[in-house]
Amino acid sequence: MTCRECAFWGVMCKKDDGEKVIISPGHYAASNKARGGQLHKGGCYRYRNRKSNRKFPGDAQACRLFEKNENPPPVVRQMGVDK
Ligand code: SF4
Repeated sequence: MTCRECAFWGVMCKKDDGEKVIISPGHYAASNKARGGQLHKGGCYRYRNRKSNRKFPGDAQACRLFEKNENPPPVVRQMGVDK
């Protein structure tokens, strides 16, 4: 298991009604020479004092507080599939 598959990994976003939700950090553009289509780094919003204040790659080993995300972001964006 990796943090990418955890419900608490991603970026925090505030909706119009003020509710905060965790969403996918998104992917690099396909035209990026070094990381084309790869997932951006994200943060952990479960545990706010260790890994949490910095962003880290989604392939980090999951911790004991892992909670499955039913719809995790893909490792590499496939053009025209997840838009
Ligand atoms: S560090 Fe633990 S709680 Fe945070 S995203 Fe990774 S698995 Fe989830």
